[in-house]
Amino acid sequence: MTASDDPLAVGQQLVAILDEGRRTGTYKLAVAVALLDLAVEQVPADPAAVVSINLGQLTERVMDLYWGQLRPFLGSDLKQSTDGRSVLLGAVAGLRAKVPGRREVPLETAQRLVPHEYQRCADKVLRFLVRYPLKRLQRAGRSDTHECFLYDDSWLGSDSVTVIADHGNQVELYPGIGHALARLAPLLKPAFQLAWVHDVQRMNKAVLGNEPDIAHHLFGADRVSLARPAEILVEEFGSVCFYCASVVTKHRHVDHVLPWSRVPLNGLSNLVIGCRRCNSDKSDYLPEPVHVARALDRGRERLQGLADSINWPSQFDRVDSAARGLYSTVTAVTPVWHAPGRIEPLSRIDFVWPR
Ligand SMILES: [Zn+2]
Repeated sequence: MTASDDPLAVGQQLVAILDEGRRTGTYKLAVAVALLDLAVEQVPADPAAVVSINLGQLTERVMDLYWGQLRPFLGSDLKQSTDGRSVLLGAVAGLRAKVPGRREVPLETAQRLVPHEYQRCADKVLRFLVRYPLKRLQRAGRSDTHECFLYDDSWLGSDSVTVIADHGNQVELYPGIGHALARLAPLLKPAFQLAWVHDVQRMNKAVLGNEPDIAHHLFGADRVSLARPAEILVEEFGSVCFYCASVVTKHRHVDHVLPWSRVPLNGLSNLVIGCRRCNSDKSDYLPEPVHVARALDRGRERLQGLADSINWPSQFDRVDSAARGLYSTVTAVTPVWHAPGRIEPLSRIDFVWPR
């Protein structure tokens, strides 16, 4: 049986990446997390299908992961490699520096504000990924022998733009791997994030000591300020809880309809105003699908127009495809959140995201 026939074997091989010992950088972890996120958003209807991962999209996801992490922590810049600053981190830090005074904005906003600098950064990061972490992801440690279980990596390792273009600017996941990764994502993503946290703690011991938990800094939902989307949502839809329709006066929350811990979507299409009770009760649960449908029923154009007015991403299509990926790969017993105090299993085993 090959890995692609057996999602559990794929999971075990991915976990082996975590066990490889002292990593000198966090890049493989970033690529793995980005692949898991992309797999959820691109889950094929046929579980055995080949899924192509566009390297431009993979690059964006990796940049997005580091984008928020590069803001100072307790006044220090955290290292993410043991051998000084890498090309990748240097490029993303350089881009951040080009967005003065407005650094805690989503990466997509930075792309709008400084498009040329963004493109230069993305080109550098893409070539770095192809040269190093994508080439090495399937090798444990420094070993030269390895089994390609995710994608063919024989052509990777060059950073020639011609070679990358000749391969269609993509890696092709082996049959069944895309679906397996989407199913494994809820299990594996937290494991990769935890390893990432440990690496960053180890690499910054001098600065952090035994200090604080940096998991929230690295992966929390508040890596960007949601003050501007909150204002525009209230202006347009009123200061009313999206879930229970109560008027929200104090303790207004911006809620990620699809939970941030599952899919990192800060776009306006995934944001609603919630009361404190609904927001804290819903927490990291997947919502009942009807809530996501209602969020998108606010209208693609309307959400895009509102997002544009505050220079914010809308991510309508990503919310739609992530919902499809999440609901089509969870099991029927998965608890979903309906309303405060009401968490029930997703009711239909053959659930199809209804859009
Ligand atoms: Zn509420």
